[in-house]
This record gives sequence, C-alpha cells and structure tokens, in this order.
Amino acid sequence: PFSFTPPGRNHLFVPGPVNIHDRVLRAMNVPGQNHRDPWFAEFYKEVLEDSKFVFQTKEATPFIFPSTGTGGWESALQNTLSPGDKVVTFRYGQFSHLWIDMQQRMGLDVHAVDVPWGEGVHEDKLEQILKQDTGKKIKAVCVVHNETTTGVTSDVKGCRDAMTRANHPALLLVDGVSSIGALNFRMDEWGVDVAVTGSQKAMSLPTGLAYVAASKKALEAHKTAQLKRCFFDWADYLKSNPVGSTPYTPSLNLLYGTKESIAMLKEEGFDNVVARHHRLAEGVRQAVAGWGLKTLCKEDRWKSDSLTVVETPGVDSNKIVKAAFAKYDLSLGVGLSQINGKVFRIGHLGNMNELMLAGALMGAEMSMRDAGMNIVPGSGVSRAVDYWQKTTPIIPTRE
Ligand code: PLP
Repeated sequence: PFSFTPPGRNHLFVPGPVNIHDRVLRAMNVPGQNHRDPWFAEFYKEVLEDSKFVFQTKEATPFIFPSTGTGGWESALQNTLSPGDKVVTFRYGQFSHLWIDMQQRMGLDVHAVDVPWGEGVHEDKLEQILKQDTGKKIKAVCVVHNETTTGVTSDVKGCRDAMTRANHPALLLVDGVSSIGALNFRMDEWGVDVAVTGSQKAMSLPTGLAYVAASKKALEAHKTAQLKRCFFDWADYLKSNPVGSTPYTPSLNLLYGTKESIAMLKEEGFDNVVARHHRLAEGVRQAVAGWGLKTLCKEDRWKSDSLTVVETPGVDSNKIVKAAFAKYDLSLGVGLSQINGKVFRIGHLGNMNELMLAGALMGAEMSMRDAGMNIVPGSGVSRAVDYWQKTTPIIPTRE
C-alpha cells in the first residue's frame, strides 16, 4: 500500500492535546524506573509541591492521578458529596454538559442551568438560585472555568462573590481543564474548594494525568462524603502523599514532564504566562475580525485566551478542518455537538509562540478559501501580525 509522510511538522492547533516543548520531551525520555527505589519519595513530594503553583495555592492539598480531566471531575465530586446531594451547574457547551451527565450518573440531584452556547455563568442568576435555597440544600456549585466547546471563560471569582452575597455555604468545584496553567486562576484568593485540570492542556504534556487540588473545606467535606469511590479516593492519597508514595503505580514519565513543565512556567512567571496567552489570543481575535467573521463568544468579558471559536455562517466548517489537515498538515478543532459544522476552533494553549500561530492563521485562511469562503489572503494574518509586532516582548535572555 502507498504510504507517505508529509514533510515538515504537523501544525497542532487544537485546544488540547497541545505542542510539547523539547525540554519537556527530553525530561520524559527516560528508561523504565522503579518508583519504589529510595529516590522516588523526595522527587514525588517535590512534584506535588510544584503543582500548587499552577493552581496558585498555598493552602490546598494537591493530588495527581494517572487519568485525564474526566477522572479529575469524578474525583472532585465523589470525594466531597453524597448520593442525592443537590448541586448547581451551568451548562453552556459540551464539557459542562458532560460534567452534568456525570453528576447525574453518580446519583446527584443536579440543578442544570442552561444558557445559550457562547455565554458563561450568569452570576446574578447563580446568586438568585442560592438565595432561594433557604434550607441550604445545595452542597456544591460546579463551574467549567473555560468552556472548550465555545471559547467562553466564565468569571470564577464572580461566582464566588455571588455565593458570598447569597451567604451560601456550598462548595465551589471548578473544572480548570483548559484554563489552569494558562489563564488567570487563583485558587486561594477566589475561594475555590476543588480545582481540576489535565496534563494535555495548559500543562503542555501528553495526556495521562489529572491534577486536583482540594481546599481545607473540601477536605472537611471529604470526611462525611458518602459517594462510592476507589481509584480516586483522597483517603488513600492523604496517607501516601506525605511519605512520597502512591496508592498504585504512578505515571513516572509524566511526572518528570510535570516537573519540567512547571519549572518552565515558574521561570516565565505566572503573570507573564497569563499575559502570553492573552497576547496570542488577542492576535487571533484580531485575525477573525480581519476575516470579517465573528467569534461564538457573545460578550467581551467572557472571551477566552485558551482558544478562539470562529463562526462560519453558510459554510460547513468541517470542510475547513478537513482541508487544513489534508492540504496543509494543520490540525484545527472541529465544532462539537450542536455546533458541529458551524464553527472551527483554534487552540492557543501549550508550547507555542506568535510565529507558530501566524502559520496556523495562514493555514486557516487557505482552508477557508478551499471550503469556498470569500476570504482575502492575508486579511486576518496582517491584523494579527500588526498586533503581535507591537506587543511581543523581547525574550529576556536575548536583550
Ligand atoms: N473539561 C474541559 C473544559 C475540557 O476541555 C475537557 C477536554 O477537552 C474535559 C473537561 C475532559 O478532559 P479529558 O478529555 O482530559 O478527560
């Protein structure tokens, strides 16, 4: 059979899995090792401590599971809640939908608040729901910080403020799968009780780890939570973490990758990491405007710096994604579920810089033209280039 490997690199611009830095790849490139050898304990304790950086927490207890973001969701729910507990979750995309589905399957009593896709959590509505709960039956508010289906970032601090205004004691559980490590996220400052992310997003690693952090209040709730749990039971980790061991075989290579990836984020500095994602995203948004198109995100305050979701009215966006991969070796994100065929997604998470993203925008322009759209070549790229040329800082070691 005919086989052909395209020259050059695949241009990976989906919002996870993401591009991985060579430094991280090298750190993970180790032969098999025994996690029961004496060196492991100190190493593992360091990785756990490091992981607090991405959550911006000093107070919370970190857990690292061989899993994905979905496992992190499960861990957050089953360790803090009991069968029949009432939870409130806004639904504004496929991931908030799937989390709600899990909450229902786990036997929770879910108050799902549907808002149009393209919007985020309405804090006033949340406040109203909590105020009406005079018997304090609601045990948790679940928020998907960055909805990767729609390119909408909800205001987690705004949610906490709404809970405070309602004087409500519910836990705040946050899916930060496509935000933590890229966007501004401050677990302690914002009063988040459980935060969850996965390795293949902003952590810029391969898929395979779920990172969870639990506040003191969440650990208190854990003591009485009755949902069945085994693999993700915090109780086992609360015994093993302090002595630097794990309840079962850890994913050692991914832990090496985690250490290196967080070292790189620390070198860059938290605020710079957030600013970088904002700059990359803003360039892409400029390009979308240059194309004469719109993002799905309905309000400026919700625009996502993790990914941009571009509407393609009148054109099947799957054709664009297909052409991008088939002709230019460019991987763009398809529209998920009810918006399949209506949007395509450009991820700007992970190891990436302005010129890489400029290549993706160029590929998007060519692919949109391939799909029959009337896009002037360079119309988006030129806007992004103009913005990036003015805003990209000098690399600190090259001044
Ligand atoms: N939550 C969000 C916001 C996501 O984007 C994803 C995956 O893309 C998930 C949860 C599920 O994570 P995973 O696929 O790692 O299980």
